[in-house]
Parts: sequence; C-alpha cells; structure tokens
Amino acid sequence: MKRPEQIVIIGFGPVAASLVEGLLPAVTAGQCELTVISAEEHLAYNRVLLAELAIGAAQLDHLNMVDAPRLEAAGVKILLGAQATGVDRARRRVIIGNHEPVAYDRLVFATGARAMIPSLNGLNFDPHADTALPDSVFALRTVDDANKLQHHLTAGDRILILGGGILGIEAALAIAASGGSPVLVHHGAAPLGRVVDSDGGALLTRCLKEAGVEVISQVKATGITKDENGFAALTTSTHGQIPGGALLISTGVRARTELAEGCGLAVGRGIKTNQFLCADTEARIYALGDCAEVDGQAPVGLLAPGWAQASWLAAHLSSPTDIPAADFSASDVLMLKGQGIEVAAAGDVSAGFWDNPELQATVFADPSAGRYLKVVTRDSVVTGFLSIGLPQTSAELTLAYERGTPLPEDRSTLLRLDDPAVSDLGTAIPSDEDQLCRCSGATYGQVAHAVGEGCTTVAQVGESCRAGTGCGGCKSKIEEMLKKAPALA
Ligand SMILES: Cc1cc2nc3c(=O)[nH]c(=O)nc-3n(C[C@H](O)[C@H](O)[C@H](O)COP(=O)(O)OP(=O)(O)OC[C@H]3O[C@@H](n4cnc5c(N)ncnc54)[C@H](O)[C@@H]3O)c2cc1C
Repeated sequence: MKRPEQIVIIGFGPVAASLVEGLLPAVTAGQCELTVISAEEHLAYNRVLLAELAIGAAQLDHLNMVDAPRLEAAGVKILLGAQATGVDRARRRVIIGNHEPVAYDRLVFATGARAMIPSLNGLNFDPHADTALPDSVFALRTVDDANKLQHHLTAGDRILILGGGILGIEAALAIAASGGSPVLVHHGAAPLGRVVDSDGGALLTRCLKEAGVEVISQVKATGITKDENGFAALTTSTHGQIPGGALLISTGVRARTELAEGCGLAVGRGIKTNQFLCADTEARIYALGDCAEVDGQAPVGLLAPGWAQASWLAAHLSSPTDIPAADFSASDVLMLKGQGIEVAAAGDVSAGFWDNPELQATVFADPSAGRYLKVVTRDSVVTGFLSIGLPQTSAELTLAYERGTPLPEDRSTLLRLDDPAVSDLGTAIPSDEDQLCRCSGATYGQVAHAVGEGCTTVAQVGESCRAGTGCGGCKSKIEEMLKKAPALA
C-alpha cells in the first residue's frame, strides 16, 4: 500500500488555517499526514480583529479560526510555540528550535508577514528578524501586541500611532471608541496618503479629530526617547518631541522570507512562486498568503487572495490529476472598517478638472455634513474614486469600478443614493459574480448558494463559503439575504 504523503505547513495564520481545513478530507481518507508548525502559542486566529480584541470589543475565543479537537481527532499534528529555524532540503526535514525535526514530502510556507519597523534612533531594526522593541513600543500584528495595547489603554496612556495608513487609522479609531487617547502621527499632508486628494484628505482629518483622534501631519520622525517605563516620546525633525505613554508602529508589513531564503529559495517581495504556488523546481515546496510573491505579484496583505490560494492548493495537493491555475488577484478598493467613518477609495484621484482631456473629474463636497466625493472617469468608466460619508454611493462606485461598467451621464444621480428620502433609484443589482465579502472574496452567488443549501445563520454561511468571517463588515448584507431566503430558493 502506498505510504501517505507527509505534508508540513510552516505557520498557522488564517491562510494556513484555511489550507488545513481544505486538506482535512485527504487526511481523514489516509491520503496524507499533516503537521502544522506554529511559532505562536495560539491556534490560528483572525488577525483582522486584533484592534477589537485590544479594546475589549471581541474576545480571543471569538477570533479563533480552528476547531483543534476536530483537527487532532482527524490526525492533524499541531505544534504550537514551535519556531521553524531551518529547512534541510537535502534530507527533506524542517528544523525546529525546541522540537525534533519534522520530515516532509511536500512543504508549504505560510509564514505570513511581520510589521515593518522604521529605521529610527532607539529602534534596532532588522528587516529579516523579529526586532526586539523597547518596552511600550509595539506593532499590532499578534495577540501579544493586542495585550500590550490593552495594558496601555487600561493605564490611560496617551498612545501615539505612527503611520497614517488604513490599519493605523483603524487602530486609532478603535482606541478613541474605547475612550482612549490616540494620536495619529504620519508624514503625509493627510492620512491615507496617495488615495486621497487635498480636500478629501482635509475632511478625513477633520472626521478623525471629531471621532477623538488627535492627528499630527507632515511629521518627520527621527527617533524615540525612553524613560524608566520604556517609551517616552517620538523625536522628530519637524515637530520636536511628541510625548506619549506608548508607541504603536503601523508603517506597513514585510513578508517573512528569511527561512525560505536560508534554504536557497528565490525571494523578492515575498517567497517567489510560479502561478501554481510552487517555489522550487521539484514541485515539493509551496508558498502562499502574506509571505508569497505569486507569479511576480507582490503580496497585498489581505485575506482574500490568501484564502483563494489556500483553497486552490488544498485541491492541488489532494488531487492525483493536475488542476488548472487560478486567478489570485485582489481588488484594490480600500475601505475603512467600522467606527462610524465611511471611507472608500480606489485607483487614482489626483486628476484635476483641466489636467488631462481624457480624464473627467467630478467633485461634490459638503464638508459640514462630512460628505465628499471625487470620481475620475475615462470614457465614463471609473479610474479612481474617493467617497467619504456616502455609503450607498461607495457601494455603487465599487461595483462600477470593479466591473468596469460606465457611470450614468448625470453623475449627480450617484449622490441621491445616499438620500434617505429617495428610495428605489435603480441601483446596480449585484450579480452572482460580484464580491459580497471583501475579506474572503466570497461572491453574492456563493452566499446565495449557501443559503439555498439550507444555511439559516451568518455563522453557517461563513462555514460554508467563509463570507463574513474576516472583518465582519458584510454581515448585514448576509443577514439581508438570509431574510429573503424563500425568495432566493
Ligand atoms: C490589525 C490588522 C487588521 C487587518 N485587517 C484586514 C482586513 O480588514 N481585511 C483583510 O483582508 N486583511 C486584513 N489584515 C491582513 C490579514 O490579517 C493578513 O492578510 C492575514 O493574516 C495573512 O495570513 P497569513 O496566514 O498569510 O499570515 P499571518 O497571519 O502573518 O500568519 C503567519 C503565521 O506564521 C507564523 N510563522 C512565521 N514564521 C514562522 C516560523 N519560522 N516557524 C513557525 N511559524 C512561523 C507566524 O508566527 C504567524 O503566526 C489585517 C491585519 C492586521 C494585523
């Protein structure tokens, strides 16, 4: 009888969790034996909700992504707190700091990404290792980080957030919502940098301030100063010293590639793979998720492509026959999650009214009501948009942008979508192929199918097609579809 194949996964983040789930039938059937090596002490959890965990709006159980007893009963070996330190490709085994080496026939890198730490005086930054940060300086990437943030919130500390990207803004808003004192410090003219124009950026800054976030823009940080409690202040060449009780670094992430590099695999912006997620010439080693540069595409740091890769790789590893390559590209529409500020943006909105005759810019601003819209089109097709305080308009523009469908000639109809007095404006009806859940990439068609198959709760729909299991921002849409269930059937 053929020996079951030994599959080993390094890393147990959300993408590995999805791969394990996909491989489970093959494990149960005795087709393969599966070992997961996780540096973290926790079972795979939903990183997207770490800010909610820190402020007490979510519990760790709620973030858990796997049913460990079920996996172990099926024979999956999970090694927690086990850092893989090397891969011996000649002997086909993974070297682990505190554990016997683990042999593999096929190896999957799901090592994810780590927070990028800027080069500042006082921080000894190493891009290829976990930099030991001073007390009270941390990123928001792990449960341990969330615990640190919670500690400083409980102490009532003024918390500086360095970085004005979407994750920095979301962390600042979460801190403010929990009654804390966040200070968003960033180098651009307005948070969100290139995706906002100057008027939109000014309104976003004002909305953040109204939500309780102090915003300090155009800062050039040079270092940190410390006292007996750890972090004391951010040193800058533009604003002197900015004092605080903690520094949350939110300046981007970098793929964790050092292990792959150490065993001779090609590495660029991630572990380089072909379109079949394969990282070596023997087709024994694969990479996916935040650590992988698939077919020349840099990792985007989102769940949807990682989960699509996991489901493809599970099918590939379980199947005796070749399966065709899939498209793992992600939408570039950016949306601020929760906390009362509605922002959506995509593409390039820098074009002015008279810059380029091929591009048409449409602008609406009602700053006192917290509303702003800029849409740039070419031949009526959206090439970029920024929408603040207009959720229905954002939804409509997102569909138009992703589908490439032309906008109505009278752009003002877009604004009326958010007028509560006007109903039934004939908004675009999502098709089965349109994305409903931005985190999982699940489409309206997949959710309708799950509902048609008998799912009656959001959780059941999530188990069926992962919709609603990331940030949770689409749960209301799923609920709406569940309410209409008889009509769908
Ligand atoms: C605060 C926050 C909010 C986010 N919001 C969103 C969002 O709204 N939408 C969205 O789509 N995405 C969001 N993301 C990004 C999303 O969480 C990531 O895309 C996702 O976690 C990637 O999963 P992964 O499994 O590839 O990698 P990771 O989640 O990084 O997991 C990799 C795991 O591998 C382990 N590992 C690494 N090296 C080794 C080793 N040598 N040995 C053993 N284990 C190792 C790591 O410790 C880690 O546990 C957010 C992320 C954060 C932090």
